[in-house]
Amino acid sequence: MTEREWTKILGWPGYRVYRHEINEQAKTLKLWVRRKRGNQKLVCSGCGRGVEDIHEVYEREVRDLPCFEFRTTVVIELYRLRCPDCGVKAEKVPQLPSKAPFSKRFEDAVGLACESAPARRVARQFGLAESTVRAIDLRYLVRWDQARRKPALRQMGVDEIHLGKKQKFLTVVCNLETGEPLWFGRERKKETLDEYFRTVLSGRQRRRIEAACVDMWEPFRLSIEQWAPNCRIVYDKFHVMQHANAAIDEVRRAEFFRKGGRWRGLVKSKRWLLLTRWVNLTSGKRRELNALFAMNRRLLKAYLLKESLDRLWQYRYEGAMLRYLQSWIDQLRWQRLPPFQKLAQMLLDHLEGILNYCRTKVPMGVVEAVNGNIKALLRRGRGYKNLRYLLLKAQRMAATKTEFIVLQRAA
Ligand SMILES: [Zn+2]
Repeated sequence: MTEREWTKILGWPGYRVYRHEINEQAKTLKLWVRRKRGNQKLVCSGCGRGVEDIHEVYEREVRDLPCFEFRTTVVIELYRLRCPDCGVKAEKVPQLPSKAPFSKRFEDAVGLACESAPARRVARQFGLAESTVRAIDLRYLVRWDQARRKPALRQMGVDEIHLGKKQKFLTVVCNLETGEPLWFGRERKKETLDEYFRTVLSGRQRRRIEAACVDMWEPFRLSIEQWAPNCRIVYDKFHVMQHANAAIDEVRRAEFFRKGGRWRGLVKSKRWLLLTRWVNLTSGKRRELNALFAMNRRLLKAYLLKESLDRLWQYRYEGAMLRYLQSWIDQLRWQRLPPFQKLAQMLLDHLEGILNYCRTKVPMGVVEAVNGNIKALLRRGRGYKNLRYLLLKAQRMAATKTEFIVLQRAA
């Protein structure tokens, strides 16, 4: 094959192949390229301006996409320039996005593979070290992030993820309209969220935030009130139901300790059943739960209370929502379920924020979906030490998939 034909097959704009080498045994192909005659405008990689003063010519070898079964490398002739602003600098070449020995399209292929497979598997597929794959993936995501438009933040979600005993909490800020995580912070203090408002958003951007879905967690509320003056705080269903689940679990544990022997075994294994909504249970599981309730009225009552609280968000009018909540609280009388009395008090203390759901339309289930995606990433990646990498990964995931998950939940 002629060099002309190799130039066509390689397809690097502005470059031509002037030498090639095929090793049949090792199944490798090596191509040497240099600039075409018409492509002589050199650009400084430091500042991006055109420079004509050449300091030296040198070569770099990078791995490119394979050609059939042949692992392909390209040796590229490059210039070091004498830039009036930056001094001696390498020229800028679009096919070479970093100092690493890979072409841009090779890195893109690795990054794309990382979207649907764990780094370990991608490493095997491309014959690279796992750490190399992660580094490529991070650069791929950074390039994607720099090139895209970022929508304005009008409705935000704030949530925390429990990372474990040692690292404790991660505060997650997300955009409710796009379902995209925006920022991660260590711990879940007021200062944590303060840092987001202070370092990421301008005053104008902060004033534009109209609603925030948060947990009934004081530090977050205080931070939002301080930084986002036009923001309404909404205690959404997801967060409130988390507390309802905690309450039913407390009742379960109390019953578990109160009764002895045979009872213990029965109640002990039912945690998951009690936390699952009735509509999501199979008939077999419903029978199991009914058998449990037949023996323990208190658990039945607690379960019904949790189920009926869920319907609070069906109401779109403040008055109706308030009436429903009042009748729900009335049912608690004489029940002797302290965890639910505590929950009721909590709801009353945060009434404004609960009713705000009727005043400001916020999409349901987004915080939950974002949260779920991050947890899935953490499980798959076995501990992202680099939070920026985790965030970019979750953002990319949101841009390509989350919409689907959110729609599914809403249905
Ligand atoms: Zn320069």
